[in-house]
Amino acid sequence: MKTKFLEKQMRKRVFRAMQDYRKNTQETIKALPESPEFGFFTWFRIFQEKNIKAKIRISIRALPYVLRAILGIRKSFKSLKKNPKNALTSITTEDLHELEEYAKSLDVDKIGYTKLTPELILESQELLYDNIIVLIKEMDKNLIALAPHKKTMVMIMKTYYQMGKQANKIAKFLRKKGYSCHAGPALGGLSLYPVLAQRADLGAIGRHGLLITPEFGPRQRIAVIYTNITNLPIAKSNSYGWIPEFCKKCVRCMEACPTKAIYDTPIQKAHGRLTHIDVEKCAQGFLNYGCSICIKECTFNKNPPEKMR
Ligand code: SF4
Ligand code: SF4
Repeated sequence: MKTKFLEKQMRKRVFRAMQDYRKNTQETIKALPESPEFGFFTWFRIFQEKNIKAKIRISIRALPYVLRAILGIRKSFKSLKKNPKNALTSITTEDLHELEEYAKSLDVDKIGYTKLTPELILESQELLYDNIIVLIKEMDKNLIALAPHKKTMVMIMKTYYQMGKQANKIAKFLRKKGYSCHAGPALGGLSLYPVLAQRADLGAIGRHGLLITPEFGPRQRIAVIYTNITNLPIAKSNSYGWIPEFCKKCVRCMEACPTKAIYDTPIQKAHGRLTHIDVEKCAQGFLNYGCSICIKECTFNKNPPEKMR
């Protein structure tokens, strides 16, 4: 697979749309200096510099989904100009109910609501709205069980593509109802989705840095909608604090990780930020063969949390 081609497409199709949106936008919420790195191009760099063999081993069947997912990201920026003038800022109970029903009809498995704070915006990025709708989609259990496998990689890329489509459709639905929003597809997100999902009380983050939910354990992808709606029923607390406590005694994902990307003691990144996951190391596994071993091996994959309490 020609990663230079992918990077070119990404810069041409997505980042131009992002720059256009920034040029025409007055008020934004900006990332803080201590915000996490924006990993998209880090991953491309690692792919090109270190994983020569990966270019041969990666499944060509994943490529159409990657390209379509990239187009979904571009659409999310280009559609910003369709936000209504004098948009409504308060959602009615009927519209909220319709939104949830519509999301369900698109195969969104879970939905939650929370607030965005600037430290969750990825480095050098900016966003328009701090009211968040979080969307969860389950990943295929049988294909995760095959990991690492080309079929797993294809399924993951397909899920990214599907979630981009779902997020853009939900954004369109909200605009039609008179609200402003920005779809945040699963691939190429501009903020820390697992933290937003945890704040929305959809689950809790495990040692491997992924969201663990009662229904699917670690086996889902996340997308969001940033919106101007100020009265979403946001979660006030998290019911799954016992999951990180459980993780302190369980080292399964850490031991199973082939690139040793999951640390017991957090490492310090730029501006003093602490993290248990080394993105550069993980990228060598994920980009090389779709890895996902930490999802497959997670104790909560075979026994989702509700069954273990
Ligand atoms: S995806 Fe693979 S390389 Fe990355 S953290 Fe999980 S097990 Fe490690
Ligand atoms: S494998 Fe164990 S430590 Fe790792 S995330 Fe799952 S439950 Fe937590």
